[in-house]
Order: sequence, then C-alpha cells, then structure tokens
Amino acid sequence: MAVATAVGLRCRECGKEYEDGPINVCENDFAPLEVVYDYDLVKRELTRNSIGKRAFNMWRYRELLPEQEPISGFNTGGTPLYHAKRLGERLGGFKNLYLKYDGVCAPSLSFKDRVVAVSIARARRFGFKTVGCASTGNLANAVAAQAAQAGMKAVVLIPKDLEPAKVVNSQVYGATLVKIDGHYDDVNRLCSEIAADAKIGIVNVNLRAYYAEGSKSMGFEIMEQLGWRAPDNIVTCMAGGSLINKLSKAIQEFEKLGLLDKAPKTRFWGAQAAGCNPITAAIKTGTDVIRPVKEPRTIARSIAIGNPADGYFASRLCLDSGGGGDDVSDAEIRDGMRLLAESEGLFTETAGGVTVGTFAKLARAGRIDKNETTVLCITGQGLKTIDALMEPGVLPDAPTIKPTLGEFRDLKLG
Ligand SMILES: *Cc1c(COP(=O)(O)O)cnc(C)c1O
Ligand SMILES: [Zn+2]
Repeated sequence: MAVATAVGLRCRECGKEYEDGPINVCENDFAPLEVVYDYDLVKRELTRNSIGKRAFNMWRYRELLPEQEPISGFNTGGTPLYHAKRLGERLGGFKNLYLKYDGVCAPSLSFKDRVVAVSIARARRFGFKTVGCASTGNLANAVAAQAAQAGMKAVVLIPKDLEPAKVVNSQVYGATLVKIDGHYDDVNRLCSEIAADAKIGIVNVNLRAYYAEGSKSMGFEIMEQLGWRAPDNIVTCMAGGSLINKLSKAIQEFEKLGLLDKAPKTRFWGAQAAGCNPITAAIKTGTDVIRPVKEPRTIARSIAIGNPADGYFASRLCLDSGGGGDDVSDAEIRDGMRLLAESEGLFTETAGGVTVGTFAKLARAGRIDKNETTVLCITGQGLKTIDALMEPGVLPDAPTIKPTLGEFRDLKLG
C-alpha cells in the first residue's frame, strides 16, 4: 500500500513553504520550488529489502517520488547499466567506466519518460484534463505517448526546425503538435503564458517541481546497479540543467536514508554542445553566472536551451563537487555517437554524442582518474536523430553491386 511521503513544496532560495499545487516559482523571489518529503516516513518504508521485492523500474523507489501510483509510464526506467570495457580501453585504459543507457527507456526512448511519468500523475491529481510541454523533442514524445496511456489530451509545443523523427514520434500518439517559429526559449516563454491560464498542466512549467523529481530515479538505479555505491564521477549532457542536479539529489537522499555502503563523494561533469553552451561556458570560467545563448546552433537540438532554468544550480554543482564541464563541436558530437556505437554497440542520439564526446575530451586531458568509477548518462536513442549522420561524408557510401560473387570479390573486403 502506498504511503504519501511528499508533504508540499519549498523555495530553493528563501525556504518559504507552499502547499501542493500547480505552481513553480516562489512569490517572494521567483526562485524554483522543490518537493519536500517526510524522510522519517520514507526511511521506514524504503529499505534495500523493500526495494528488492519490487519490479525493476522507476516506481521501485516510489517513496522518494511525489507520486506513487503511475497512471502512465508503468514500466518506465529500469534501464541497463553497462560496463563499457571496450570504450574504456579505446579512451586509454578506463577500467571502471559505465553507461547508463536510457536510449531504451519506455515508452518513448529517452530519460524524459521518467519526468513525465511523475508529472502526468500529478496533473491528474490537480484535475487537469490536458497536459502539455515546451519541448526540444524528447519531452514532446514522452508527453504525447504517456498522455495516450493515461487517457488524457496532450498539446505539445516545439521549435519548428526539429528532427522529423521527433515530430512523427509526437503526432503518432494523437497529441496536438504546435510548431513555434522561434527557438526553445520562445517556446518556453509562450508556455509560461499558457500555464498562467491554469487550464493546461504544462509538465515543465506549472508542474516543474514534480516533473524534475522523476530524474532522480536515474540516479537511484545507478547506485543500486553499482551495488549500493555512488560513482566517483558522473558525466551527463545538460539542457535546462535539471537532470544533473537531480542526480546529485538522488545520491544525497540515498546517503540520508542509509542505503549506501560508504559516504559518497561524486564529482559531476556537465556536457554541452559548443553551439549552445551557457552552462559549460560558466563552469569553464569558474562562475555560476549564466549568460544566455541567444542563437543556439548545434545538431544536438534536444539539449539546445539558450537560457537554462537550472543553469545556476548546475554550474555550482559541477564546480563545488570538484568536477567540471566542457563542450564539443558538431563534428565531435558525431564522433561521440560513432565511438559509442562502434565500441559498445549502442546507438545514441546527438545528446548522447555530446556526453561521450565531452568525456573523451576530459579523458584525453587527463581530468578524470582512470581507476575511478565513472558513469556516463546516455539519455536518448540514436534512431531519433539519424539525420545528424546522414550528411555527406559522415558515414561511407555503401556500394551497390549485382548479386554475383564476382562483383562481391571485386570489393576486396577480405
Ligand atoms: C532534455 C534532455 C536532457 C537534459 O535535460 P535537463 O534536465 O533539461 O538538463 C538530456 N538528454 C536528452 C536526450 C534530453 O532530451
Ligand atoms: Zn523564495
């Protein structure tokens, strides 16, 4: 039986407390709100033993989520953690390198299914009949798919130039897709105005505090899969900067609940595309002051947010944890996608290419210890962004031959 452990909202800046509701900023200072839990209650219900008896998906840690009964995303999460031996070798002898592969996260093949599963259940509780989002693609896919599962209406807003696969993957579920003539930041601003009407539950605007909690499940799974340990390093790409913060919160919560064998001291490394790097630009100069990028230009569209909502917290986390950050060019993103595919047989989208490419850069610069345990968060699926690899000269032209042994031998493939 579910025990309600989430007890309200609190401002991350001034600490003012709020009752549960579709609100996302503090009325004093406009700072983001965060879900508050009764950790004594959580501790009673959530033990290694109770977790171990549940199905391997994100709901096995339900007492640390603001919703405990899914109405969509029933088997979301529970994605594999692979020991990346060949990739580790290719990058110069990383023996304890792991990949958290959310390219197979159900139902819509990105980690965004985790945040949507939580926020759709909240939307229903608050009485919304329609859910929506401001999206760079994956969120639209997840909202559309899970609204269908929950029997709700969905309206998803995206910048007009997204990859065809992300467009189709939103419309096929029956969602209403609206393309905005502008960048993600324009889409997001419009969604804030729509949310003010309070008729649509916009998962990453008026439900953002709840939404963001879903990302913690990726962190919980990583620690359990490592044998109740936090890794020494986590590398992940960043868009709004929410995921990286929630991975850190996940580790703090497991520590607080006594679920870990030893005290964690994880360093966080943030990755972005050079063409849209507001957070890593700050990290690289040692500051938490985010200067928005006005005209994002990168093939990594799913993480192209010029004005990141949690950028300040993300840069502080990377700096204060002893980690850091870096960004990569479009060519390095493609190299990262191919490196992962060729060494581990995993196909990730451009955002995953950013993570792998940035890790390769950090590794070459000797910034991450080869003997430590490092987890790369591979957050999306390569089949959604094949256009990035279809440009001339990226992959070889495949020869076409007559079905004869002679022509095949002429290819001299050995
Ligand atoms: C949205 C997204 C991210 C980053 O999310 P934030 O929490 O906004 O930093 C990373 N990878 C993929 C594939 C995404 O779609
Ligand atoms: Zn406040």
